[in-house]
This record gives sequence, C-alpha cells and structure tokens, in this order.
Amino acid sequence: MNYESEIICARCTCLIISGKDHFFEVKIEARSDRSAPNLDDLAAQISDPSAGYLALIGQLRSVSNQEAMEEVAANRMIFLCLPCFRVWIEDPAGGSS
Ligand SMILES: [Zn+2]
Repeated sequence: MNYESEIICARCTCLIISGKDHFFEVKIEARSDRSAPNLDDLAAQISDPSAGYLALIGQLRSVSNQEAMEEVAANRMIFLCLPCFRVWIEDPAGGSS
C-alpha cells in the first residue's frame, strides 16, 4: 500500500510528499485571556444596566460569527518543510529581524 500524500509548505509553498520528505505538522492553539473581568470596574462603567446590555447587543451585531469565535479562540494547523521549520521555530512570532 502507498500512504504517500502531497502537502504544500505553508511558508515556501514547496510540494512535500509525506512518507518521503521531512516536514513538520504545526498546530497553533490560541486562547484569549480566561481570567474573569473585574466586575466592580464594569459596574462602575455602566450606570444604566439596560442601556449597557443594549450597547453590548449592538456591538455583537456588527461582528460576524467567525470574528466572535476568533475573539475567544483560534486553531490553525500548517505544514512546514524542514528548511522552513528551522527558520520558523527560532522566531515563531516573527518579531525579531
Ligand atoms: Zn517550506
């Protein structure tokens, strides 16, 4: 049986053949801050709870479902060829130059 499959490197777009080429599967799992907000601070900002609730609903209407989900969590999976992985792993956030 042949278990080879073709994958594209997310960085250089070279063709990777699984079972033949050396590559990395990179899973990125991002989560927003899970700590609870300071409710005293929030309460101080809202003098009228009904108006605050309506304002929040208004804000949510302008956000797509995908955008709302990605404000909480986002997952990505990419494949990197070996040369691209070696560069990426040294600076995964891309901040150094
Ligand atoms: Zn590559």
